[in-house]
Amino acid sequence: MTDLQAIVEDIHAALLPRRGEGRVADYIPQLAHVDARRFGIAVVTVDGAVHLAGDAEEPFSIQSISKVFTLTLALGKHGEALWKRVGREPSGLAFDSIVQLEREEGLPRNPFINAGAIAVTDLVLAGHTPKEAIGEIVRFVRYLADEDDIIVDQAVARSEQATGFRNFALANFMRAFGRLDHPAELVLGVYFHQCALAMSCRQLARAGLFLAANGRNPLTGHRVVSHLRARRINALMLTCGHYDGSGDFAYRVGLPAKSGVGGGILAVAPGKASIAVWSPGLNENGNSLLGSLALEMLAARTGWSVFGA
Ligand code: GLN
Repeated sequence: MTDLQAIVEDIHAALLPRRGEGRVADYIPQLAHVDARRFGIAVVTVDGAVHLAGDAEEPFSIQSISKVFTLTLALGKHGEALWKRVGREPSGLAFDSIVQLEREEGLPRNPFINAGAIAVTDLVLAGHTPKEAIGEIVRFVRYLADEDDIIVDQAVARSEQATGFRNFALANFMRAFGRLDHPAELVLGVYFHQCALAMSCRQLARAGLFLAANGRNPLTGHRVVSHLRARRINALMLTCGHYDGSGDFAYRVGLPAKSGVGGGILAVAPGKASIAVWSPGLNENGNSLLGSLALEMLAARTGWSVFGA
């Protein structure tokens, strides 16, 4: 057993009694059915070692973590022109907030809040039907994780479609400012499916590995993005990946990371490893409560931090 495996197991065991803490997202009805006591950790190092604990092999709804993958895809298609559609500043507001959009003329603050991700998905949709765009996103994530069995949980996608009133409001608002090229229904059809991707901690950690390895997936040898682009995506994850809790997360953990309301967090330790944690109970900012704690403990035990060991 390597030290890292022992650390991962220790953290899992230490937090196990606290399973169920936090609040499971219930504004998406299908997510309210998830067992709040699920808890998994996966660490995949850049040399390919895999360390798992708990429910690390069980697929869950990755939700906003998908925004990292669609941003990567859209940057590949549109390059730096993407930044005409979305900013690169933390919002300091909830992930589904609408207030800033009016003041800032429909230009979302960053690609990781809902409005920004919807703008990015609008770009992924360019030249495609929604079905093709969903297919492209799913294929891209399978390629990143090098796993063919990653699928969209259709029940979650339908659940979001039926209750995503705030997202419809955000998208229509942006459309009113001329910030979306496609009708809100089409963009959101794609957006809800990307959020409903079901992946395990192990699959997620593998999919994020290119960000820990200068843009190249060290397991497949594929260059996904340039060195510079990987660095920039990491910078956005660090500053914006946890919404209104991004500052606190950087203070406590010190790693670029992206959370989702399904309770997952994907974190990147550049040059070292990609880490995924899952615990459905959320804190007041909509980020996994136990997942954040697990990453804080992992960073403390390993010395991994972008701010120095
Ligand atoms: N699909 C969710 C939504 O749009 C994603 C939000 C999240 O994970 N923070 O509301």
